[in-house]
Amino acid sequence: MLIDALPTTGRVRPVRQLSKHAKKSAKRDEYRARYAAYISSAAWRAVREGWLDEYRLRNNMEPSCEVCGREWELARDDLHHHTYDRLTAEAFEDLAPLCRSCHDLVHDTVRGSRHWSRMRDTAASRKVIDRLRHLRAVHRQQLSRHSAGQEGAA
Ligand SMILES: [Zn+2]
Ligand SMILES: [Zn+2]
Repeated sequence: MLIDALPTTGRVRPVRQLSKHAKKSAKRDEYRARYAAYISSAAWRAVREGWLDEYRLRNNMEPSCEVCGREWELARDDLHHHTYDRLTAEAFEDLAPLCRSCHDLVHDTVRGSRHWSRMRDTAASRKVIDRLRHLRAVHRQQLSRHSAGQEGAA
């Protein structure tokens, strides 16, 4: 029997799967556009200033990057959104102080992992930040041990 004679019906990929994916990526694009517009707005600047005031009130100290511990500055550094659920009306707990390079690392880590991307935004974001801070601390310890020469050269 010729291959060409076989019926072609049923060989079409399920439409449901495609449209689900398309819907998801359209939603993501919409989020991205909204986020980009908001991040460069005066409203977001006001939220950042309000967040810093609140942080100082609560902690009686200046914020630092939650991953590397470097001093966080309003004019230079980022406020990461654990969740976009309240975009433009963020709760204090929705935001985390991060320096630019650690902020990029957090997003790359979430994007690059099926495990983290599948978790709900807020939970994944908090866990990734904890994990990266921990890895950084371990790495720093290893580096200092290495430079102290305790690793023992063969
Ligand atoms: Zn940092
Ligand atoms: Zn972020």
